[in-house]
Amino acid sequence: MKPIQMVDTKTQYLKIKTEVDAAIHEVLDSAAYIGGKAVATFTNSLNAYIGSKHTIPCANGTDALQIAMMALGLQPGDEVITPSFTYIATTEVVALLKLTPVFVEVNKTTFCIDPESVRKAITPKTKAIVPVHLYGHAAPMEAIMAIAKEHNLFVIEDNAQAIGCDYTFSDGTVKKTGSIGHIGCTSFYPSKNLGAFGDGGAIFTNDDDLAAKMKMIANHGQVVRYYHDVVGCNSRLDAIQAAILNIKLGQLDNYIAARNAAADFYTKAFANNPKITTPSVASYSNHVFHQYTLVLNGVNRDGLNAYLAEKKIPSMIYYPVPGHKQKMFASFGLENMDLPITDWLTERVISLPMHTELEQEQLELITTEVLNYVNAN
Ligand SMILES: *Cc1c(COP(=O)(O)O)cnc(C)c1O
Repeated sequence: MKPIQMVDTKTQYLKIKTEVDAAIHEVLDSAAYIGGKAVATFTNSLNAYIGSKHTIPCANGTDALQIAMMALGLQPGDEVITPSFTYIATTEVVALLKLTPVFVEVNKTTFCIDPESVRKAITPKTKAIVPVHLYGHAAPMEAIMAIAKEHNLFVIEDNAQAIGCDYTFSDGTVKKTGSIGHIGCTSFYPSKNLGAFGDGGAIFTNDDDLAAKMKMIANHGQVVRYYHDVVGCNSRLDAIQAAILNIKLGQLDNYIAARNAAADFYTKAFANNPKITTPSVASYSNHVFHQYTLVLNGVNRDGLNAYLAEKKIPSMIYYPVPGHKQKMFASFGLENMDLPITDWLTERVISLPMHTELEQEQLELITTEVLNYVNAN
């Protein structure tokens, strides 16, 4: 059996090696190392896939969030509501821009932002909400958009973990996550569902003015070269990465299906075990399984992690410290804030290997060993 990895990007690459290598060489031969055809082609394909009016490529997912927040013209002290139970990038940029992060709860079964908790956190200073489609499951966008409309707030979707996920509205309309809020952000970090062989990111919007602003901000605040209208940054998607991503985008739906097949195997194996809660899928979302995350009930998580490691099965805690308890936000004095579901989940979640290349015998071993430990302890 092949060694089990959390993510197996190498095997995935080998299956598309011929195409990818040719695409890389095409960029090398073209000498268009910045921008050029590869970036334009991928940007257009991605725009069509997401169903957005505008797609702006950039250097990584964190930059995407930063550029989005810069474009909204927020002022220091303005409040941005985000879940505490997420990757740090979502909230780090809030603080970086001298805005105030306001942490709210997530739903216990979908791990995504809780609309009621958002409602309670709104103050006259609130300017934006950043829902995160965590682990590959959509946040409850219809409810979030309704709250935003009512209070005149911007919504920036953090779609770094859920590219390709479908959101179904109550009228039956289906949209890709990332195309629903005022702005959507994503990441092409190698382990993401649409992963480059380096860094990359993109921003989506249906708003012409915001699109123009974000393009300008990502390019040193210029439209006409050497005439800089606003303070921006330098955030570009690398041409070689774009060429690779264009090929991988053609595989994305297959990749999502492969992730779902692995997830189904796990979920069947753990069904009805009272000590394991498997990921649930809300009626409005499908799941693209960036992570497959269990909630343990009365199981020593460190013990399970160590036991699996001994059997050469990796497992990870995403994330061991919630945002409100991170040292970087100490000046906001949030460490004692009351987020019981976030704290509860933080102590109980564990993620199993999840990628497109998991083999039957690997899945069998993983589930057998998880159950061995859980049932004996
Ligand atoms: C990966 C990730 C990001 C940041 O993406 P980078 O490309 O690594 O900067 C932001 N938000 C979430 C939820 C992520 O998982």
